[in-house]
Parts: sequence; C-alpha cells; structure tokens
Amino acid sequence: MVSKVRLQASKHMTSKQILVVEDERPIREMIAFGLRRAGFEVREAEDCRTARAALADRRPDLILIDWMLPDNSGLELTRSLKRERDTRDLPVIMLTARAEEVDKVTGLDGGADDYMTKPFSPRELIARVNAVLRRSGGQDEAELVRVDELTLDRAGHRVVAGDRTVTLGPTEYRLLEFFMTHPERVYSREQLLDRVWGGNVYVEERTIDVHIRRLRKALEDFGYDRLVQTVRGAGYRFSARADA
Ligand code: CA
Repeated sequence: MVSKVRLQASKHMTSKQILVVEDERPIREMIAFGLRRAGFEVREAEDCRTARAALADRRPDLILIDWMLPDNSGLELTRSLKRERDTRDLPVIMLTARAEEVDKVTGLDGGADDYMTKPFSPRELIARVNAVLRRSGGQDEAELVRVDELTLDRAGHRVVAGDRTVTLGPTEYRLLEFFMTHPERVYSREQLLDRVWGGNVYVEERTIDVHIRRLRKALEDFGYDRLVQTVRGAGYRFSARADA
C-alpha cells in the first residue's frame, strides 16, 4: 500500500528535463535555480562540446542555448541540432544579449523555437519554457490560459476577465488566443497573417491593424488593452510587463 502510494507520487512528480547551455556561470546558475524551483530537472553545460556530451547521454525535453559560447556559436549548435534526426524535434530557446536585436530573427531562421533577450526574470523564463513545451506537445495543450485576471477558455471558446465575459468577434478571439499562447514576443504583421489568418488567405496587412484596434477596444473596459502592445517598426507584442 505504501509503495503504491509512493509509486504514484513519484510518477506524478516526473519532471521535465532542461539542458542549459550558457558559459557565464552566474547567469547559468540563476537560470538553473529558477527552473529547479519551478520543478524542472536541470542539467548544465558551459559550451557546445559539453552540451553535445550531455545530449548524447540523455535527451532533455527542452534546451536553452546562449548565443555566444566559447567554442562555437549557439546558433551553430541550434542549426546542427535541427538538422539531425534525433534532435530535430527538440525544442530550443535561444538566449541573446539586448544588443543583438537583429540576431533574433536569424536565431529563428536557425531553427530556434523561441528566443529570450537578456536580462530576463526567472518568472518570464518559466512562462516561455512552459509555452514552448506546450507548443511542442511536451505538455497537454492547456485548455485554460491565464494572463493576469484574463482567462482564455479554449474548450468553451471564450475569454473571461475576472468574472465578466469579454465579447469578441471570431477574428479577435483567434488573435487573442494566439497572443495569449505566444506572449512576450514580437510578431510582424506578416507573421500574424500567417499564424492567425493562415497563409493562403488574401488579407491586407492593414486589416490586422483594424482587428488589433477592435481587440484593444474589447479589452479596454477591463483595463487589458495595455497588454496588446505596438512595437514601432516591428509589429505587435502581447505582454503583461509594463516596461515592455
Ligand atoms: Ca555567453
């Protein structure tokens, strides 16, 4: 009886494993600490060579790769992982420094599933890791997605702010669903067209601005229009951070 309980408990507690590839020790330790506290199992590597050895040893559920590594670039590592059959599906989040804005795009072209710009809070990191794991199928797709008091109920196909329903048109709902499941990242109008409208529909990019305006209007009464942020010259971002 006792062993049965224990077995169930340990099964329940099986945690996702994350490999952190970062040469700067204080940053690596900060990341590892935050992830462990959130219940992840963490392994650390300080360069591409060590990362390779760790990968050969055991496949993690997700890998965080710093852009600048001493023996090879994190981008190269990402590219090679995405080329190889065994690691192709392994979700990668790239870490970049703020000065490397342009590199972000390249990072995504290189196959990274997401990127994060340093510095970031442990909370932000956990949110991103969970989002990428969810997207990659590593976790069940959450039926309820929450940002602040805003809750997206995918099963019920509705959005609730506190205890009040947010009235949205179908396009605004899809747009908000995409934003809430892909937070803290800038999407260009073109990317939003692809992801929310689907690539084969002919919609002018200006149309997106119209729907963004409607979405903000719908969220305004609840004070959540601020979450839909315009990033000049780049596109839109959904963020709960006031400083964004
Ligand atoms: Ca580095």
